[in-house]
Amino acid sequence: MPTPCRHLASFYAAALSHGLAVTGASQGWSIAKCVFHFDGRLPRGLRAAARHASPPVSYYAVAKAPHTPAETGLYCTECGIGLSFPDSHG
Ligand SMILES: [Zn+2]
Repeated sequence: MPTPCRHLASFYAAALSHGLAVTGASQGWSIAKCVFHFDGRLPRGLRAAARHASPPVSYYAVAKAPHTPAETGLYCTECGIGLSFPDSHG
């Protein structure tokens, strides 16, 4: 299993400390080199910090679409690495 970059390391560790687990890491995307997928929603306590993440890390939220579930996450534009959390809020 690859590890996230140093910019995302603290969020990654915090998510794990909230009891979440990484279900997999997808690689070879066109824009992202690697995206880590977590098995639960972005913890409330982490969401505010994620929203205020500073560059090169940015917060993103993707609404539910017919063939893709809603998700929220963090993406490091410098390293092309992301953390993805499923989001039931669509
Ligand atoms: Zn990075």
